[in-house]
Amino acid sequence: MRIHELAKELGIDSKQLILKLKVLNFPVKNHMSSVDKETAEIIKHEVGELDKKEIEENVVEVDFPITVKDLAVKLNKKPSELLTVFIKQGKFFTINQNIDESIARDIAYSYKINLREKLSKEEEILKIESKNLTKRAPIITLMGHIDHGKTSILDYIRNSKVAEKESGGITQHMGAYQVALDKGRVTFLDTPGHETFTAMRARGADITDIVVIVIDADEGVKPQTIEAIDHAKAAQVPIIVAINKIDRPNANPDKVKQQLSKIELVPEDWGGKTTTVAVSAKTGQGINELLDLIILHADMMELKADHVRPAIGVVVEAKLSKGRGSLATVLIKEGILKVGDFCVCGPYWAKIKAMHDDNGDRVQEAVASYPVEISGLNGVPNPGEQILVVPDEKSAKEIAEKRREKERKKKLTPTAHLKLEDLYKKVKEEHLKQLKVILKADVGGTLEAVEGALRKIPSQEVELVIVHKGVGAVNSSDVLLADVTDSIVVGFKVVIDSQVRELAKKKGIEVRSYQIIYELVDDVKAAVEGLLTPQIKRTFLGRARVKTVFKLSKAGIIAGCMVEKGKILRGKIAHLFRGNEVIFEGKIQTLKRFKEDVKEVIEGIECGISIGNDKIKEGDVIDVFNEEIIARRLK
Ligand code: GDP
Repeated sequence: MRIHELAKELGIDSKQLILKLKVLNFPVKNHMSSVDKETAEIIKHEVGELDKKEIEENVVEVDFPITVKDLAVKLNKKPSELLTVFIKQGKFFTINQNIDESIARDIAYSYKINLREKLSKEEEILKIESKNLTKRAPIITLMGHIDHGKTSILDYIRNSKVAEKESGGITQHMGAYQVALDKGRVTFLDTPGHETFTAMRARGADITDIVVIVIDADEGVKPQTIEAIDHAKAAQVPIIVAINKIDRPNANPDKVKQQLSKIELVPEDWGGKTTTVAVSAKTGQGINELLDLIILHADMMELKADHVRPAIGVVVEAKLSKGRGSLATVLIKEGILKVGDFCVCGPYWAKIKAMHDDNGDRVQEAVASYPVEISGLNGVPNPGEQILVVPDEKSAKEIAEKRREKERKKKLTPTAHLKLEDLYKKVKEEHLKQLKVILKADVGGTLEAVEGALRKIPSQEVELVIVHKGVGAVNSSDVLLADVTDSIVVGFKVVIDSQVRELAKKKGIEVRSYQIIYELVDDVKAAVEGLLTPQIKRTFLGRARVKTVFKLSKAGIIAGCMVEKGKILRGKIAHLFRGNEVIFEGKIQTLKRFKEDVKEVIEGIECGISIGNDKIKEGDVIDVFNEEIIARRLK
């Protein structure tokens, strides 16, 4: 075959082909040079690969969605030319119409151009690498049952450690504050409650470094205490337990410790790993010890941040003030925030007019773990939303608009969380190995019975994880926890009010309620059964020995074999043995008798086999197996 003929087949001219062959280290003299058939096949393949590589590297950046007109500019073509191509494909667009990303990519590819989506400005800023890491203050959240003293402890710390030292001492509430101790600084989030904690996490804000669980020394562990602990555990945040109100005559810290031992939080002085400290928010007893423990824990965690890059932070609280407009308390995670900076905060933006610290004092800048209240935003963001310093007003407006757009889209299609029915699919496609459940029941006894029954469902491959269990109605905090942990919520003989159902629907959470225990167990069993990875049953079919190896232009390497045992079937699993070792696993891709493709060849007959491996050589043995996938059932 002559080069010009080959070029014609490839749809390029001879000169181009000769150039490509040079690149491929395959020099030919001129278009009249000839190559044999086999070489021509190799050239075709190699030129195809080279073209693909060239297109991959020929990147043009665009914004999707894109109009025909804009795409034409990017591809350096006339819009009318693109429209003609589309019409030939039976697609009718107008010049200013947005076209599908895949259609744009395909046409670009036909012009040997690889379209790549431009990084958004936001992505570019977030990509800035954090370096020069230095120590930052730990961020603490207090959680626990209502009235066990979270607010009192926070107030005590704030009043004793901040107000007394700083001038003026206006203790304005802004959702977070920092205390300076001799041993270091500590930031407290003054938004106690695990619902807020988890709601913030759902917005992507994992800012708490340590959770302090507050328990009344008299009342002990309550359902909400357990909820709070489970929320902290789900966030994988270390826990310190403060046993509060020890000034009270009925205080019984030992009883609390005993209760803690039962819920997998064995206190250190009982041989466990949980740090506990007895405190009184009334007298201040133990508070210094609590602070010391926090600092000790934080030191061990070696918390660090970049204090120089443009700030990234999180909104802790926001409100509309009559005189000052939108006010947002933000906590910086990385970098530095300065007055005059342009920033995006949730879907809003600002040129920061003023910043105040937790004493109400004006500040010019704030660094990591430092809470400040900023003014100047054109709207009120939600807690948990991100604040980002951007280079200029244009980017601020652009990013804010993109975020608004994203929010609108998200409202239309909530994130789909795990549903019992599609567990099997998820396991197969996404290799899910856990079924996470939040379990609620009417009374303690039933809760235990249901949990026991669920745990008895045998499964080695899929772990049943009870993220949280509790007595009482399914509440919004259960739904929020399910949202961040991708769990399903199961209620047994409990009410699920319409508001909670509505929230679950909005968040895409499955909430199932049952009245009869075996129905619940059956459903979960069926799901877990689907979860089980199907077993593969392999049966030996036959064996062939390689007598010789030859090359075919289209099929590649073919092994000329003799079937020694059983039969060889096309498409089945093949193990290539050299000696006793399997050196390759593949499939019988080609099976030939003389020149004919066949489906099977039986014992004592010669055949040609390709298994997609060109290392195969004389003397090798090919064992062929049938694979059967068996869905397993539970006993
Ligand atoms: P929160 O709901 O967890 O924030 O609890 P609060 O801080 O509002 O406290 C609830 C009640 O317990 C209030 O009446 C406090 O005065 C009281 N309290 C809090 N801490 C202590 C304490 O250490 N000792 C005593 N005696 N009372 C306390």
